Amino acid sequence: MSASTWPPLREELRGIEPYGAPQLPIDKVPVQLNVNENPYGPSSACVADIATSAAEAAMTLNRYPDREFVALRQSLAWYLSRDTSTGIVPEQVWAANGSNEVMLQLLQAFGGPGRTAVSFAPTYSMYPEYARDTNTRWLAGHRAEDFSLDLDAARDLVKSEQPSVILLPSPNNPTGTALPPEAVAVLCEAAGDDGIVVVDEAYGEFRREGVPSALEMLPAYRNLVVTRTMSKAFAGAGLRLGYLAAAPEICDAIRVVRLPYHLSAVTQAVALAALRHAPELLGKVDELRAERDALVAWLRDQGYDVADSDANFCLFGRFADRHAVWQGLLDRGVLIRETGPEGWLRVSVGTPDEMAAFRDALIDVNGERA
Ligand SMILES: *Cc1c(COP(=O)(O)O)cnc(C)c1O
Repeated sequence: MSASTWPPLREELRGIEPYGAPQLPIDKVPVQLNVNENPYGPSSACVADIATSAAEAAMTLNRYPDREFVALRQSLAWYLSRDTSTGIVPEQVWAANGSNEVMLQLLQAFGGPGRTAVSFAPTYSMYPEYARDTNTRWLAGHRAEDFSLDLDAARDLVKSEQPSVILLPSPNNPTGTALPPEAVAVLCEAAGDDGIVVVDEAYGEFRREGVPSALEMLPAYRNLVVTRTMSKAFAGAGLRLGYLAAAPEICDAIRVVRLPYHLSAVTQAVALAALRHAPELLGKVDELRAERDALVAWLRDQGYDVADSDANFCLFGRFADRHAVWQGLLDRGVLIRETGPEGWLRVSVGTPDEMAAFRDALIDVNGERA
């Protein structure tokens, strides 16, 4: 075997770099605004409760965990029910190690050879990877100039290509754009019984006043799936817990493809403890939303183009050489994300101190480049 073909990787994976933002040590880069984390960690009371729960789980580690994670599904159903008028029952809930795993499982169950997955670019860069990894054909439609969805074009694409999975982040990453309920309705109808529509609400808790969650539409569309995560608003990125709400038949279908005991006893116990502290962990969301709105206003004041944001980040530009600006900020101890359409950069919303550091660094970088 020639050296160039070893290891014997699948043809389509050769030469591909693993996905991931640069992870730099916090002592070298003190202001990290690149992966949309919640900057506020748990209180010591919450940490103590999590530690006790993890210790209790540790006493059972010789046994496999509850494969159906019944208690966790109940708790997640309770948590989601606060966002709906009709409520969510545990049979409608599924969870995995991050919503990325939830979505991969959806592609494993509903994608595959001969099937198509669709989204609308610019959008989350992991979606095409789920498609590739499950041998699902990938097709990206396009968003309008302001990053909203052109509904007629989107409906036409779905009608002509008949995807079995449609991935719609709302708010979208990296643009921050939320989808209006009409968009979800139109695409659920266009997909019909041959496709599922996945509304990825990873940033759902940050949406602006008056922007509804797609959870409200579950009773109307049995092909609708709404995914959420504890990684963003919930301040639990390190926990690795994502989940979805959908028709019980969809949850049952995923059980066919999931690995046995995919949620460890420790993950289940820690997630349950975190959910008991939901009000505290989500306690900074309003502040972060206000900080987000202030950031958008400040960037516009500085003359930048800024996409409207319903998330805890914003996309701004446009730069002739965005990499130089990204590097200039990094040289000043501020890490943001070089992602999205050419010429744009994405910055996460941090604490007031972190945002002040970002503003100072950006002014400084501009001064140097002017
Ligand atoms: C961050 C993010 C997720 C969440 O990923 P986890 O695996 O739950 O940490 C999902 N979708 C989008 C669009 C995201 O930006």
